[in-house]
Amino acid sequence: MSSDVPIRLAKVEDARLIANILREAFAEFAANYTPEAMVVVTPPADEIAGRFEEGPIWVAEINDEIVATVSVVPETEWLYIRSMAVLPKAQGLGIGHGLLDAIEKYGIENGFNRLFLYTTHFSTDAIRLYEKHGFRRVRDTSAEEWFGTPGLSMDKKLGKDIGKMLLEVKDLHAGIEGKEILKGLNLQVGKGEVHAIMGPNGSGKSTLSKVLAGHPTYEVISGEVLYEGRNLLELEPDERAREGLFMAFQYPVEVPGVSNSQFLRLAYNEKMKHHGLEELDPLEFNDYLKEKAKIVDMDPQFFKRSVNEGFSGGEKKRNEILQMAVLEPKLAILDETDSGLDIDALRIVAEGVNKLRNAESAIVLVTHYQRLLNFIVPDVVHVMANGKIVKEGGKELALELEEKGYDWVKGAASSR
Ligand code: ADP
Ligand code: MG
Repeated sequence: MSSDVPIRLAKVEDARLIANILREAFAEFAANYTPEAMVVVTPPADEIAGRFEEGPIWVAEINDEIVATVSVVPETEWLYIRSMAVLPKAQGLGIGHGLLDAIEKYGIENGFNRLFLYTTHFSTDAIRLYEKHGFRRVRDTSAEEWFGTPGLSMDKKLGKDIGKMLLEVKDLHAGIEGKEILKGLNLQVGKGEVHAIMGPNGSGKSTLSKVLAGHPTYEVISGEVLYEGRNLLELEPDERAREGLFMAFQYPVEVPGVSNSQFLRLAYNEKMKHHGLEELDPLEFNDYLKEKAKIVDMDPQFFKRSVNEGFSGGEKKRNEILQMAVLEPKLAILDETDSGLDIDALRIVAEGVNKLRNAESAIVLVTHYQRLLNFIVPDVVHVMANGKIVKEGGKELALELEEKGYDWVKGAASSR
């Protein structure tokens, strides 16, 4: 995919040359696309020089002449691609891919987990390049704020998990009793990731959880949900569970007359049978359960009690995490697991979840409040409003929401 054109890290002396490339490339862009929609930004050379301090800049050269450049800014865990430009005369040589390879290599070597960028809808060639290079389109309103014209955000995961998508929700419309609640929701969750879905009350977070679990009273109107590439919506709820989807609901159900350990063994053995693995008898299971209970610091007396019956709010939530530990799901969706928890219970639940994080599975935390995310640090934060994801970002987004409140995103939802 890459070209043979050599690519090197730029030096401060290159600033003027880089500025010229950006100037030329932007002018070309503005001439070919919709100039009236673009403010052509032409960074002066000394500003470019300033950017050498923010993050590395790479250049590609043909016959000692710089013909292309890319610059990145390191965010906490992401590399933000600030600008990329290839002179018209050097296009078609695969230099764009070469530049992206260079920053990917840099990102992986320096422990970043994602590349991220904003672009405009008009940059069709650039979007095509990024998509060929494995970037995904991410729903985000920031790109629009950034450009003042319809924008697009794109990202690519770095490292070993590239391409290991676990859940893909595409333009999902769903509701209850004829009322549409989810209105075109898009979500992608990769293996090894923890995602937080935040949003004001009534935005549809629990509806999403229930639709994914296959709750019978919710109906899917249109759209697609892929789970490990399979159509999730075709599977019965129990089939989804056996395939490794775990759901902890906002209001856990009580199951009188069935002890917690019976319930857990049944669920565990169902899953084992489904995968052709050995089931455990009550004694063997008891040992297994004792080990798992340590993860949430749970007293074995809770094994004998009826599922959730008479459990306090905190005990119910802890029990949910125990269920999760026992079932070892591929995808766990925890709906408002933090609600009604005091700080100690919150910490225990969060520690439990953190212990269950691993490279092969993913966790989706649905939460109204930021506080849980102080203990379980998500890779991606999605903000829902009015049945859609209206904003996405890194863990910083949760703090920004805490500060600015949900009116900030509600505005974004109603203006489109
Ligand atoms: P969240 O979890 O984000 O607070 P919900 O998914 O619970 O949001 O609710 C989204 C919207 O769907 C709300 O307007 C709510 O009133 C409505 N809704 C949820 N459940 C039902 C139901 N069983 N019948 C009718 N409307 C419902
Ligand atoms: Mg809810």
